[in-house]
Amino acid sequence: MTTLEDLPIRDDLRGRTPYGAPQLDVPVQLNVNENAFDVPEDVVAAIEKNLHAVLAGLNRYPDREFTVLREKLADYLSGVLTRQGGTSSLRAVEPEWLWAANGSNEVLSHIVQAFGGPGRTALGFVPSYSMHPLITTSTGAAWVSVDRNADFGLDARSAVAAIEEHRPDIVFLTTPNNPTGTGMPLEVIEAVLAATAGIVVVDEAYAEFARDGYVSALTLLPDNPRLVVSRTMSKAFAFAGVRLGYAVAHPALIDALRLVRLPYHLSDLTQAAACAALDHAEVLLGNVDRLVAQRDRMSATLADLGFSVVPSDSNFLMFGGIRDPHALWQSLLDAGVLVRDIGIAGHLRVNAGTEEETTAFLEAVTAIVRRDP
Ligand code: PMP
Repeated sequence: MTTLEDLPIRDDLRGRTPYGAPQLDVPVQLNVNENAFDVPEDVVAAIEKNLHAVLAGLNRYPDREFTVLREKLADYLSGVLTRQGGTSSLRAVEPEWLWAANGSNEVLSHIVQAFGGPGRTALGFVPSYSMHPLITTSTGAAWVSVDRNADFGLDARSAVAAIEEHRPDIVFLTTPNNPTGTGMPLEVIEAVLAATAGIVVVDEAYAEFARDGYVSALTLLPDNPRLVVSRTMSKAFAFAGVRLGYAVAHPALIDALRLVRLPYHLSDLTQAAACAALDHAEVLLGNVDRLVAQRDRMSATLADLGFSVVPSDSNFLMFGGIRDPHALWQSLLDAGVLVRDIGIAGHLRVNAGTEEETTAFLEAVTAIVRRDP
């Protein structure tokens, strides 16, 4: 039997393992930071209508510039920025500042293809999203991991010191961070922008779940042509199955992404579904507060049980003080609850679910702790 080892694969891919969060058929799935709520019926109906309208035209390639989707994303973000208030001269986002692709993973891969590649370096502060190094190295660029502080935070001084030491071409900042959950102050991003001549990617996949006081890096865009803010419809919009991520940056930076994207990368079906969802943004985002309430409930209960809980601006929590994380992960799975063992000593990560799912998790974890304190 031929194995991968027998094929003339690139040397730098030999021995690597693919991204692989377990996809198990378990009653309560709280492991990949999805939105727990189904797409509401009226939004399903609107998506069906939009899909129907494009079906007969599927003999043609889709709009390469996803013009309508871009306008709708710009409208959504203009609302976000207006709500952030007074911190920026950018009062609205123009469609030329928008990019979109099949999930923010693909957006990130476009950014690294354009600004990374062989001979270049990207740097990130870990623990963080495990795909950043995988996306980087798949373009032939080198990856540098710099440890976050002991409390998983990142301060401007250490971030700048790391950049001065490694002089990366791309810096990844994830805020709110995955898997730790916490957002980062805007001063850190500003300090990083000032310290590097490279591209700064701010991955804001979870920004809609942030606590009051969180200010988006979107507010920094007008003065920073090397900044790109990446976001997604997979989390707050409950749209992970569609695969729609987007980025905002100076139009010149967006032009660079056009050089590396495959022609017609966003199908008509994807564009039509995403447009329908954006037309119903308020309904879809209506569940954000419910998830935040469940997150805060989990946080309080886990703290009462004696775990340390990392402050979260996301739809998930990282909790610590676990003697054997893999054993707890397995016991929860045995109880029908799938959480994530993120490979950080003493810690696990769990999504906020619906109220019922969250209750199932909390009851299971309480029973396990009582049984085996
Ligand atoms: N960024 C971060 C920080 C994430 O956690 C994820 C998904 N877990 C992504 C990007 C990618 O999400 P998607 O491709 O679904 O937009």
